[in-house]
Amino acid sequence: MGGGQLGRMFVHAAQAMGYATAVLDADPMSPAGLVSHHHLQAAYTDTAALAELARVADAVTTEFENVPAEALRLLAASRPVAPAAEAVAICQDRAAEKAHFARAGVPCAAHAVIDSEAALAAVDGALLPGILKTATLGYDGKGQARVADRAELAAAWQKLGRARCVLEQLLPLHRELSVIVARGADGQAVSFPVQQNLHRDGILAVTQVPAPDVPEALADEAARCAKAIAESMAYVGVLCVEFFVVQGAGGALRLVANEMAPRPHNSGHYTIDACDLSQFDLQVRCMAGLPLVAPRLHSAAVMLNLLGDLWFTGAADLPRTPPWGDVLALPGAHLHLYGKAEARPGRKMGHLSFTGATAEDARAMALRACTLLGLPGF
Ligand code: ATP
Ligand code: MG
Repeated sequence: MGGGQLGRMFVHAAQAMGYATAVLDADPMSPAGLVSHHHLQAAYTDTAALAELARVADAVTTEFENVPAEALRLLAASRPVAPAAEAVAICQDRAAEKAHFARAGVPCAAHAVIDSEAALAAVDGALLPGILKTATLGYDGKGQARVADRAELAAAWQKLGRARCVLEQLLPLHRELSVIVARGADGQAVSFPVQQNLHRDGILAVTQVPAPDVPEALADEAARCAKAIAESMAYVGVLCVEFFVVQGAGGALRLVANEMAPRPHNSGHYTIDACDLSQFDLQVRCMAGLPLVAPRLHSAAVMLNLLGDLWFTGAADLPRTPPWGDVLALPGAHLHLYGKAEARPGRKMGHLSFTGATAEDARAMALRACTLLGLPGF
């Protein structure tokens, strides 16, 4: 379900193991649809297309977290569906997600749900300054506004169409981490090494593994929390949990869960080139009921996201191809492009992973690539 780049990389992994694939996505040029055996070009709620998908597929998964949970429920009547509609529904709603973190015993940011004038008026001043986020349908920093005080909060809520929102306290972030877990139907769970992420303008820009600035005990705690979150919703499939590392007054670092994605995640793309099993390989194994084995990081890695902005660095308005030849001359470079026909600013067009014998090697080459591409360093 879903034809984006995550689906495309899943299809690649499934096909490498000899599976045939089917993608449901209305876009005839969707990155996954272009490389799949079957491409059902219809809406996620099209019952005829869902019936056809159930006919051609032995198991169903999703790469797009806003697939209507109802569609997954319908498919689950005749085919194994992982993750289950119930788990996806939790991840689709920031309020439900935070309630789930609490159930799993994992701390998250202080917050309030704003769904009425009364709730707006009753907001605890301690949540300001904060970030107002729509409860559903947000991604890449969309549907969010930073608010300093009550007046800005009221204006931002208006601007977001008075949609159901979550107001989160603005936290002083020391670092951002994520953990990717794969959990099988038998309850066995494995995880990838903890990733350190850098966001720019609300969009993931750089992922580094091993996480350079995070004490091992905190990284272990993040992995433990991610597994507890998966376990407590009987999750099956690949799940990513994003964390903030917050520095307290005494300098002590603590972990705060931000959000989760019921699918492989952008911060796990490096696993294709730096691990003996990628996040997509493990998703295939989850789907097929095959054994999960703990993945091994065989190289240090740095991943750079390639946004459409890179195609517009020249003087002219016309897009131009970035200097891939120069980038690929750097040792350890792995270029992944998603086959999107049109580059647009902010659009994820591909990613570049650098693998190295040491973290310093991978970082040095990634920084050279940043210079070549006109990206800021990290
Ligand atoms: P994604 O593309 O990961 O789904 P999203 O649009 O759902 O992104 P969030 O992960 O909620 O958004 O926030 C995007 C980024 O904004 C975070 O990675 C972090 O850098 C910053 N941010 C979000 N919430 C807070 C907070 N409470 N305090 C400080 N910074 C925050
Ligand atoms: Mg996020």
